[in-house]
Amino acid sequence: MTSAPREDFAPPETGRYSRNALLARVGWAGQARWRASRVLVVGAGGLGSAALLYLAAAGVGRLGVVDGDAVELSNLQRQILHRTAGLGRRKAASAADSLAALNPLCRVETFDLRLDRDNVGDVVSGFEVVLDASDNFPTRFLLAEYCWQHQIPLVSAAATGWHGQLLVVRPGADNPCYRCLVPELPPAAAVPPASESGILGAVAGTLGCLQAVEALKLLLGLDSDLHRRLLAYDGLQGRFQTVNRVKRPDCPLCGPGK
Ligand SMILES: [Zn+2]
Repeated sequence: MTSAPREDFAPPETGRYSRNALLARVGWAGQARWRASRVLVVGAGGLGSAALLYLAAAGVGRLGVVDGDAVELSNLQRQILHRTAGLGRRKAASAADSLAALNPLCRVETFDLRLDRDNVGDVVSGFEVVLDASDNFPTRFLLAEYCWQHQIPLVSAAATGWHGQLLVVRPGADNPCYRCLVPELPPAAAVPPASESGILGAVAGTLGCLQAVEALKLLLGLDSDLHRRLLAYDGLQGRFQTVNRVKRPDCPLCGPGK
């Protein structure tokens, strides 16, 4: 990483980011890297709320927010980017306002849409790290495929009930991809939505915070166990576990001939 002296930052930034700059492996050089970086977060719900707030607070220079929904009353027990006064607003716009209020130095680009095969390239290109904070497997598969094929690191998380999972995919010949873990699309009936299974807001927020941590490390080029392991969180038991992820020889995305 190139060095960047404190003098490269104006007084509003030196005050705002002083605790980042004190961190081992960050310093003002790391802060400069974050300021110059572009991170896309797909989903401004329970996961994305926590991830986006912490990425903006940390000083990521440009954030993209993808969400095609409007704010509903049942969202507010977990989606802390949004406000009661904003019921009915588009989530992407609501998120952008909250992020600007937290850190006006962060530029926010909104995508008020649902990702699909036709628009994924236009939305994702130009971002250097992607956070999958969506709530459905078709979007997860779409992002996993696009990011792997275009060599974009992906931080994917999911949460339901009292449980959450997190993994980081760093494209590379020796690294496992998302579909090494989930080779085929699960049947919809096997994956009840939050409207059926319930979700504790703080569990989703925990996973969103972890996504922000991993994204900030990726931007600094720092390695992580989660590039090759899956992290599972059981909020009810108060337990974190990680399990090894291996490259699947017959993986439909990264296997031979792909
Ligand atoms: Zn794979």
